[in-house]
Amino acid sequence: MELPRLQKIHYSRSACNSPVINTLYKTPMEFSPALLPETHALPDAPAPAKADGRKPMIGLSREELLAEVLALGESKFRASQLWHWIYHRGAKTFDEMTPLAKKLRERLDGMYTLARPLADKDLTSFDGTRKWLLQFADGNKAESVFIPEEDRGALCVSSQVGCTLTCKFCHTGTQKLVRNLTAEEIVSQFMLARDALGEWPSSKEPRLLTNIVMMGMGEPLYNYENVAKALKIIMDGEGISLSRRKITLSTSGVVPMIRQCGEELAVNLAISLHAVTDELRDVIVPLNKKYPIAELLQACRDYPTASNSRRITFEYVMLKGVNDSLADARALVKLIKGIPAKINLIPFNAWPGAPYECSSWEQIEAFAQVVLAAGYASPVRTPRGRDIYAACGQLKSDSEKVRKSVLLKQQKESAASV
Ligand code: SAH
Ligand code: SF4
Repeated sequence: MELPRLQKIHYSRSACNSPVINTLYKTPMEFSPALLPETHALPDAPAPAKADGRKPMIGLSREELLAEVLALGESKFRASQLWHWIYHRGAKTFDEMTPLAKKLRERLDGMYTLARPLADKDLTSFDGTRKWLLQFADGNKAESVFIPEEDRGALCVSSQVGCTLTCKFCHTGTQKLVRNLTAEEIVSQFMLARDALGEWPSSKEPRLLTNIVMMGMGEPLYNYENVAKALKIIMDGEGISLSRRKITLSTSGVVPMIRQCGEELAVNLAISLHAVTDELRDVIVPLNKKYPIAELLQACRDYPTASNSRRITFEYVMLKGVNDSLADARALVKLIKGIPAKINLIPFNAWPGAPYECSSWEQIEAFAQVVLAAGYASPVRTPRGRDIYAACGQLKSDSEKVRKSVLLKQQKESAASV
């Protein structure tokens, strides 16, 4: 079949965020930038208790794992062994770890779990895109999407259940934030995908899952500690060992945290720019009122990986008659002048009640040509997995906001029931 011209020229990079089919559209929360603290949108909810009371071992940092092992009276070496079995071999039970004495395996099994989240839904698109709706121990849900391409495959990972930032074109932004995901829940999205794809051990080559994009539900830089902890585990050379070059973090522009992310993680950076004037960006990405375009671009200029080999990606959702004129395209290339960059044009994916329409294909193509002529790669993100609602930018789970007091009560009850 003959593909439209742009699809042939520009390579689709990734797609993620999708609505759960049976969710209801809810009114967005009123956004007030003044209410936002510097790093977190909300304090972390208490870590969800496992139904059987055992502690998750996935998501502990190396230091934390070592402390647990030493507290059990075991040697330092045991911590390295556990790390290897969990993250290199992908063990799901302690029983598999045969070099460990049976008694120790039984003891560990009584105290800890290596359980993955429950895959409440597991859908595969005709184009190979695969989406999991994951249910965590406390019942909250978030989605991960695997997007296979010819020579690579990216897992789109969620960082929060819902999002406090109410970008006007985003379905996730209409869901009340329930809570930040823990490091365990972030890492276990990856573990589950690897399980499903049969890609353990970590040294296996060639592999389908090669990249991670932090582009699922939530704003990763509003859950920075857990995201950073999870990515450090994933990048650790004795475990999963995924290079920072294979990881892209997308942010709507939390400027102070961009700096910290660059210093501590140095993963690839993607910026959800979407508008070339503060006037428009204030409306469609309301976080702009707090961190306007000039500050955001300065943070990009200062980002340590901003070299030609590791360009910053600017994401730009194509909204008909809103931000898609050729004058916008020209202003865009002017704005990012001097920043090693590529511009990822994302056709807007509609959702029930969405206030925008997607630009026409001709307009997207004309826009892309202006960007291309200015010397920037301008891949158009071909929507993937639309038949399973896995196209970019529409994730929404049916989790409702649960008050902290209710969560604590639930935890106490589940602890008492074991
Ligand atoms: N919160 C982060 C990452 C998750 S969103 C961020 O905003 O960057 C991943 C990408 O999907 C972002 O660029 C976001 O702006 C885009 N997006 C959101 N809703 C969309 C929609 N309906 N259609 C197309 N892209 C969308
Ligand atoms: Fe949140 Fe990103 Fe959606 Fe904005 S685009 S509401 S930051 S998930």
